[in-house]
Amino acid sequence: RDLAVLDARISGCRACPRLVTWREEVARVKRASFRDEEYWGRPVPGLGPASARIAVVGLAPAAHGGNRTGRVFTGDRSGDWIFAALWRAGLTNQPTSTHVGDGLELTGVRVAAAVRCAPPDNAPTPAERDTCSPWLARELALLPDLRVVVVLGGFGWTALWPVLAGAGYPLPRPRPAFGHGVEVTLEGPRGPLTLLGSYHVSQQNTFTGRLTEPMLDAVLSRATELAGP
Ligand code: SF4
Repeated sequence: RDLAVLDARISGCRACPRLVTWREEVARVKRASFRDEEYWGRPVPGLGPASARIAVVGLAPAAHGGNRTGRVFTGDRSGDWIFAALWRAGLTNQPTSTHVGDGLELTGVRVAAAVRCAPPDNAPTPAERDTCSPWLARELALLPDLRVVVVLGGFGWTALWPVLAGAGYPLPRPRPAFGHGVEVTLEGPRGPLTLLGSYHVSQQNTFTGRLTEPMLDAVLSRATELAGP
């Protein structure tokens, strides 16, 4: 299978009743400022080529961001942050991601979320995280050159461990705690894979200064260094 097939399958998933109801209700009611737009209202697949050596894993789509545009991290402030940073790191051809068809191209990086459907209050349940994790597992398995996973936030950090265990990576005990700049390298069946923690690009972090542009740039710089040319 390839990423396009996987993306199509993810887009049709209805495994989490609470999230299916929420994502479709948001798309039906819409936010007033977007009332003339067609909302996606479905699971949001990842974005980026199969040749990616870096994966960026976030939390879940925002109700009026990815759930509106149908593209991961696209159409909200969080997306503005991550795509501007990816551009500064040389991983995209433009600093913005506004809508499907805007000309954005990713090079060497795949961007995805731990949970693919917009959750109420941006808070998926642990059960929803576990239900969605097979999609992430299949996606990472389809990136044969993957060397680094940049994990945005503790939710994604928690979601990733069972995915990696299932892929044959021996996990450290105790499991390393999430933190900004935390770096963990695992030796697995496909060679070394490094996890890099970063505070999430949510507005709670970027508005308050908990996460600054230089902090995010430092993590992505380390990711490109580890990924190699
Ligand atoms: Fe399917 Fe994941 Fe959406 Fe649940 S969150 S319905 S598993 S795509």
